[in-house]
Amino acid sequence: MKKKLAVVCICVVFLVVGQWEKLSYRWHYRDFVPQQWSETTDRVKTRIETNDKILALTMDACGSKGDSLDEDLIAFLTENKIPATVFITGRWIDKYPEKFQQLAQNPLIEIENHGQEHRPASLNGNSIYGIKGTAHAGELYDEVKKNADKIEKLIGRRPIFYRSGTAYYDEGATEMIESMGFQSIGFAILGDKGATYSAEEVEKAFLEAKPGDIIICHMNHPEKETGKGVMRVLPKLLEEGFKFVQLKDYKDVLR
Ligand SMILES: [Zn+2]
Repeated sequence: MKKKLAVVCICVVFLVVGQWEKLSYRWHYRDFVPQQWSETTDRVKTRIETNDKILALTMDACGSKGDSLDEDLIAFLTENKIPATVFITGRWIDKYPEKFQQLAQNPLIEIENHGQEHRPASLNGNSIYGIKGTAHAGELYDEVKKNADKIEKLIGRRPIFYRSGTAYYDEGATEMIESMGFQSIGFAILGDKGATYSAEEVEKAFLEAKPGDIIICHMNHPEKETGKGVMRVLPKLLEEGFKFVQLKDYKDVLR
């Protein structure tokens, strides 16, 4: 009987310790009313503070229905030795574990966290583009942490950046994400508008880039024109003297 009780007690302690951080966030933000809801909310980093002609190419893999991987685009970057930072969701990793490992083994690819279920980062269930954001701090905690843990387990390195699904945040969410140890990443250049741009529009958007800009586009829609546009415009930017860098190498100078 005593033995049984001890086992139960130990189980309860483990459960409480595991949930403690999540519960404390839930409590801390229980009455929080967000004032901001956008892609440029306070603390969202959109560029590298620099005058050097560098750009950060970031590409998302959202794990949405029917998406996959633009292998031609990855091959193009690899052949041309162009580094990139990719934001990947947990559900994409679950769908494509082998493709994920291939990306992880490519030194030109920096892997970061795009959330477990691709949810906008909200503390009160705000929606955008018909996608419901996390309903409270507890849900945001799970959305961020589950995929950070998954990535760390798979590649042996913990992500340092977070881009929410849709790149929307409220200011409580960005504060909480920061206190969990991650910088919230946005963008300065909307490179493919959710993979809806034509190749020409992608090209035009990229050519607006200024030194230090973070460019966002998608690597999960080979059937769309993003890859074609990116492969066309990157040589032009290199010709103009731009160099591509990974975000992790500029983590202390993101604005
Ligand atoms: Zn996404």
